Amino acid sequence: MQTLKFAVLPGDGIGPEVMKVAIDALKAATGPAGIALEYEEADVGGIAIDNHGAALPEATVALCEKADAILFGSVGGPKWENLPPAEQPERAALLPIRKHFSLFANLRPGLLYKELTDASPLKTERIPDGIDIVCVRELTGGIYFGPKETQTLEDGDVQASDTMVYKRSEIERILDVAIASAKARSGKICSVDKANVLTTSVLWRKTATEYIADKAPELELSHMYVDNAAMQMARDPNQFDVLVTENMFGDILSDEIGIVCGSLGMLSSASLGTQNNQHGHPFGLYEPSGGTAPDIAGQGIANPCAQILSSALMLRYSFGLNDVSEKIEAAVKKAVMDDIRTGDIAFGKPAVSTSEMGEAIKERL
Ligand code: NAD
Repeated sequence: MQTLKFAVLPGDGIGPEVMKVAIDALKAATGPAGIALEYEEADVGGIAIDNHGAALPEATVALCEKADAILFGSVGGPKWENLPPAEQPERAALLPIRKHFSLFANLRPGLLYKELTDASPLKTERIPDGIDIVCVRELTGGIYFGPKETQTLEDGDVQASDTMVYKRSEIERILDVAIASAKARSGKICSVDKANVLTTSVLWRKTATEYIADKAPELELSHMYVDNAAMQMARDPNQFDVLVTENMFGDILSDEIGIVCGSLGMLSSASLGTQNNQHGHPFGLYEPSGGTAPDIAGQGIANPCAQILSSALMLRYSFGLNDVSEKIEAAVKKAVMDDIRTGDIAFGKPAVSTSEMGEAIKERL
């Protein structure tokens, strides 16, 4: 029997509520396929500050190190907002965990079913069939990780700088992820940069052109400046299929994708590491795109779909189980098409609870 070993970090707010439902759905999807789940839970974020005095306790890191993937909820909330910025749950847990496991590639599927186009702020006529795109963002390089400095100048003025740095090898490895994604989809990649202004973008564009021509000449590669990409995303998101871009541009564009796709409750994400796990697939961290939703936490009404779809990404990328992953994705879609919906995607239909949504998805598996 195949056994999947992963760490479960539910975190704060709605995290534990949607995680419970996602684990149930995972069991329902993997059990009939003869796959066993071996997982342990650990605290992360605000709850870890409360229980252990640190947002990312050593025991949590140790548990993740023994696992082949991490299923993550979300962290943070009003209770910890007054801590110094460096001690706040997101900064003190999420950034270090990305760094510790060299999670260099962030994949954010921008998926909006045709039946949910009302959830998007875009006019329905612009997205008659919904949205289906993927953003591949470089996650451990660029301006967020380059040298930073604040200094007082001779004339008393104060100057601060952040430096954007990229190596060709860092660009090539994120291109590999985009290439794999494009091959599994329509074969189109749009590389987003600012090559008219930034030296790192000149290298980015040259590398993308040469590397894709060499490694995957069958793919259709286009380039777009980031300012234009932001406009095009709001005008006609489906002109894209796979986007690949550097860290800061990806941070901004993937949030824009989140809003054009409507509810955060439907959006999953995967962050892949440089190391392979014992199954020969990338170690990865899988989490919903949204946060802890303090406004609805504790009420049992959060949408569990993003967490369930994140677990489907875990099966696909860290365990190579495409079939089971697709089954979960199809069951989520079928439940929504059958009008089983939590409040965030109800649009006049009766809203179900988190657990009822989970049961409906399990029934359709
Ligand atoms: P949020 O994503 O938590 O909430 C924004 C809106 O989306 C809210 O109205 C919320 O109810 C709704 N929403 C989000 N997920 C939902 C779901 N599954 N079902 C139904 N509705 C959902 O963003 P925020 O309010 O800006 O942040 C709240 C807290 O979450 C903050 O402490 C923030 O730092 C943290 N946060 C954590 C992560 C993470 O852990 N990766 C990401 C973003 C924000």
